Amino acid sequence: MFKNIKTRLLVWYSLTLFLILVGFSFTILETFAMQNIKTVDAKLKAVAYDIEHDLDEYIHGNSEGFDEEEEFFINNLNISIFKKESSKISIIEKSSANLEIFDFKREYKTLFEELENSIRVLTYQSKKDKNIFIQVSTTLYDKVHPALHSLKNTILIVVPLVFLFAIFIGFIIIRKAFKPVKKIIDEVNSINTNDLEKRINSLNSNDELDELILTFNGMLSRIEESFSKIKRFSNDVSHELKTPLTVIRGELELGLRKDRTLEEYKAILTTVLEESISLQELIDSLLFLSNSNKDEIVNNFNSVQFDELLIDVIKDNNSLLKEKNISLEIKELNQTTVEGHNVLLKVLLNNLLQNAIKYSNENFNIEITLKDNSLEIKDYGIGIKDEDLEHIFDRFYMVDKSRSKKGYGLGLSIVKLIVNIHSFKIKVNSKYKEYSSFKIVF
Ligand code: ADP
Repeated sequence: MFKNIKTRLLVWYSLTLFLILVGFSFTILETFAMQNIKTVDAKLKAVAYDIEHDLDEYIHGNSEGFDEEEEFFINNLNISIFKKESSKISIIEKSSANLEIFDFKREYKTLFEELENSIRVLTYQSKKDKNIFIQVSTTLYDKVHPALHSLKNTILIVVPLVFLFAIFIGFIIIRKAFKPVKKIIDEVNSINTNDLEKRINSLNSNDELDELILTFNGMLSRIEESFSKIKRFSNDVSHELKTPLTVIRGELELGLRKDRTLEEYKAILTTVLEESISLQELIDSLLFLSNSNKDEIVNNFNSVQFDELLIDVIKDNNSLLKEKNISLEIKELNQTTVEGHNVLLKVLLNNLLQNAIKYSNENFNIEITLKDNSLEIKDYGIGIKDEDLEHIFDRFYMVDKSRSKKGYGLGLSIVKLIVNIHSFKIKVNSKYKEYSSFKIVF
């Protein structure tokens, strides 16, 4: 019914409070009334005993009437003495304004259950003569009535006031307790996919709400991580797919330029097929790279013939080399085996070699040295300034942003990732406008 938790709490709180206060007032009044009845009953019994004591005088008509009203300080006291033989009831003695209630079943009885006129009656069977009954009665609330009345009035005024005051205090407490919830809602609402690095500020209260904030923040971290993984993956994909797609496109354009012999078509199709296969492998590896942690990748390591892989990569980049008229000078090519992930290592070599070609001056040599425990690729080109050296492995970092068509600043960050996964080391040695050398140590 009430959608708002605050209202619901307030309603439940008020209802409970109302019931408690009503119950409390009722109990006080009841206890007061019961106590009064007990006192009156005790007095009535005392009167009955007193009359029983002098019963002989009443039976033989020697009494001078009842004097218990003065003796016991009871107002409106009525006394009767009956004799009951089978169904016949005869009155032996009675005070003037007598009530004749012949109820022999119950000892005590209250007549007219009203505050003003209630009368308490005791019908007492004499122990001396079982046929004799002494009936004593008095008004129940005679003296107590004003006190009971004012207690009732006080309760009627005080209880609603207490009730209203408690609701007001309750309202303030509930509002105060829910204030941080509103704050949390506002902060969560202000977070969108562009600022997932934002976190909800802790209340420093160490309570359930603080725990909720911690949980929220934990969830945000996980969402941020998967978001950046997805982003990274799409960026890496677009960066890495360029090469194979360029090769496929080049081959197809070459094939379509003029009529070719069957053999030539076969050769083109074979290249396209090989490139599509490596494209597929590449996508799988990138997916693997973005979804797996280091341990998982390491568990999939094989022995890779590194020198052969290097030759493959060089072949793949032949057209780029030709375009810039760059020759490769292989200074050393040791037969080298490393433990690693074949496709990822290919990506690493490809990126390093392509950078060397991209940033080398035309007509210059690129030197490659593969030793047992290291590979060095050195080009003579634009070089890297000292202040840029520490940033070139950062994602999207490009020294010269105007040459944006040449890259996205991702290649070296992927290289670094692959180097880390393989627990290799990478060293850069460069002189601005002269040379750059990238050395991988296995
Ligand atoms: P990009 O896609 O821009 O090449 P990389 O992450 O591969 O991105 O490289 C980052 C930056 O490092 C490049 O923008 C370039 O300025 C510099 N760099 C990388 N390799 C070389 C190199 N062999 N010679 C000179 N500068 C290089």
